Amino acid sequence: MEEENKFSRRQVLSGLGASLAVAAVSPVLSAEGAVDSAAAEPLKDPTTAYPKPPFKVQEQPWPGLTSQMQPRPDHGEKSYKGSGRLKGRKALITGGDSGMGRAAAIAYAREGADVAINYLPAEEADAKEVVDLIKAAGQKAVAIPGDLREEAFCKRMVEEAVRQLGGLDIVVSNAARQQSNKSILDISTEQFDWTIKTNIYAPFWIIKAALPHLKPGAVIIGTTSEQATDPSADLYDYAQTKAATTNFVRSLAKQLGPKGIRVNGVAPGPIWTPLQVTGGSTPEKLQKFGGDTPLGRPGQPAELGSIYVQLADPGASYATGQIYGAAGGNGHP
Ligand code: NAD
Ligand code: MG
Repeated sequence: MEEENKFSRRQVLSGLGASLAVAAVSPVLSAEGAVDSAAAEPLKDPTTAYPKPPFKVQEQPWPGLTSQMQPRPDHGEKSYKGSGRLKGRKALITGGDSGMGRAAAIAYAREGADVAINYLPAEEADAKEVVDLIKAAGQKAVAIPGDLREEAFCKRMVEEAVRQLGGLDIVVSNAARQQSNKSILDISTEQFDWTIKTNIYAPFWIIKAALPHLKPGAVIIGTTSEQATDPSADLYDYAQTKAATTNFVRSLAKQLGPKGIRVNGVAPGPIWTPLQVTGGSTPEKLQKFGGDTPLGRPGQPAELGSIYVQLADPGASYATGQIYGAAGGNGHP
């Protein structure tokens, strides 16, 4: 993977001479941004780019492993190409072992960031793959397993990330709990508490712990969902936590704007991740997962990696309080 990146950079750089020779480049344009048009990739049809339903009905014990999913999700392992957009940044990503968190971790590392990931001890195998991918990109990888439902751990995790990374510039609050329940009557107080602790309390504790370390230019990114605005009948507790995420993004953006800290959210639609096969969906929903979107398929985490990069990129310095969506044509961010 590292080789692949080096190769693409070499291609870009070697193409530079040729394009300067044949094209009249405006003197105000930096040559560094030039791209070799000969290396252009063919157009890719998004309707056929990735697996479509019907999917094999499958279930795993929570929190699940990406390696056990059929088909295996794509997090950009073979495709994401960096171009130095986050050089020198230090990022902490919760739920960085799989799904959107893994896609963000791979993309951040290939953009030049050092990355700390948090995950549950049961996800060590997934986390190890991510650590290896970060290292293969030539960046520092920090693994901090632990349960975000404990305030003390959230604080410890942030301190550990700051200590091992030597600071903190990007906080991605991405971990979440989602369980499908047909009726509100099926949700016990304990289950409700579990969802709220993971999805609402943990970001609160993490951001409080991180804030004293964040300097102007730092960013906070929350993973919310189309569920925030278009909740499913069977996701009574989860959907309201995602509305809370969208809301904290908008509130904190106002609070932290004057301090130069941007706060944004990513709102995925149906994405092929372990969360869906560990009780997040019903077997019936899983079989046709994503089939009702205009693109006719679920998204892959790889298709969201660049959104996490964009929101962290200093070039997006006027974007705060925004929710960027990727939902295959349905839903609203
Ligand atoms: P995922 O299972 O790959 O990631 C969720 C992660 O949350 C897990 O890997 C786990 O490490 C972490 N986690 C859960 N409980 C935890 C706890 N108590 N302590 C520590 N870590 C814990 O699934 P994903 O779909 O990539 O989920 C990432 C984010 O995307 C979540 O916020 C989810 O709500 C959101 N989302 C997912 C979809 C989808 O269709 N998959 C759609 C919209 C939003
Ligand atoms: Mg996981």
